Amino acid sequence: MPLVHMHDMLSQAYRNGYAVGAFDLVSLDFLEAIIAGAEACEAPVILSLAESHFEYFDFELIMPAVEAAARRSIVPVAIHLDHGASLESARRGIRLGCNGVMVDNSLAPLTENIERTRQVTVMAHGCDIPVEGELGYVAGVEGEDAERHPGDVVYTSVEEARHYVDSTGVDFLAVSIGTVHGRMKGEPKLDFERLAQINQALNLPLVIHGGTGLSPTQFQRLIANGVAKINYYTALADAAGEQLAENLQSGARGYTQSVKGMQAAIRDEVERCITLWGSAGRAAELLRQCRPWHNVEHLIFFNLTCSEAEARKIIAEGERVLGDIPGVRHVFAGKALKDTDHYRYCWRVQFASAAVVDSYREHPVHVSYADTYFRPHAGDRVTEDFAPALAALEQGGQGAE
Ligand SMILES: [Zn+2]
Repeated sequence: MPLVHMHDMLSQAYRNGYAVGAFDLVSLDFLEAIIAGAEACEAPVILSLAESHFEYFDFELIMPAVEAAARRSIVPVAIHLDHGASLESARRGIRLGCNGVMVDNSLAPLTENIERTRQVTVMAHGCDIPVEGELGYVAGVEGEDAERHPGDVVYTSVEEARHYVDSTGVDFLAVSIGTVHGRMKGEPKLDFERLAQINQALNLPLVIHGGTGLSPTQFQRLIANGVAKINYYTALADAAGEQLAENLQSGARGYTQSVKGMQAAIRDEVERCITLWGSAGRAAELLRQCRPWHNVEHLIFFNLTCSEAEARKIIAEGERVLGDIPGVRHVFAGKALKDTDHYRYCWRVQFASAAVVDSYREHPVHVSYADTYFRPHAGDRVTEDFAPALAALEQGGQGAE
């Protein structure tokens, strides 16, 4: 299951002088094309889902497919929430399977940006999930998506960047040095000197938004100055759109005829970028360097010393409140199918990662539920947390030699 910790992935890329592509996907065609492109290049890849695109697809519906694609892939994959608007967006992204989140408060004044980003960082780090912040502002010029980033470009300042990273604890920083969201107009001018200074001051993986339209030399200079993640979407959307137009012009009718070759067009562009950014051929080495990412199952078997009506109330309340705790992905309350002398009930709470075992236990919502509803009636219980056995054994966990 080559879902890996995104922090490990980008630290390695940063250290080894290449950038991982974070390709925004808006449909299964994009998903399949991005994974196929990364596998053909034997490259790590980030499947990125931008909150601003949620009107094009149902985030909750597409995430099981994104996760399945990542888990069956032969290259290391991370799943990222791009341009999350709020703390709630980040929580939802994590619940649905993202193991990296970006929170974009770049339009807010600095102090507000810092405070809102810090809240996300505290929450996400409690789940062992890295956070990307943005400082300065990457505006949109033209093309699909540009209108979602109104206003003028604001360059990232070195001093502010240092203060921002120290105050928020973000793991990666998206910087504004002259790229734009959407298509470039004319020759893009990038401030490499500023980038070099930011990189020297921060010493953490930097991120570029608005990669479409840059030249190979520009990409190389970005990467040489600390850029380890490149967000890329517009050129993929354009490649898909051009293929569609070509099909229609040649007389295609109906859906499947019209979209023929679209995946291949997206995939070609993905492969071109991966090759340019130096991540091709890095998959095997990176898999050895990254911790695998897996969920943890928190299991409780219990009996209740109360009436059936009270039991219903206790379980309904648990189902209502526990699922909203950060890092909880799924809550299942079960009752034994047959009468038993052992335990008649169970909870299966799925955590995003092992770190959630602690943050969940201490979360005020959990503490209050356990003290008020659960423990007074469930004195007879066993609780255990489980990682996937084979993953744990491979990592030298219990039972390893
Ligand atoms: Zn962006």
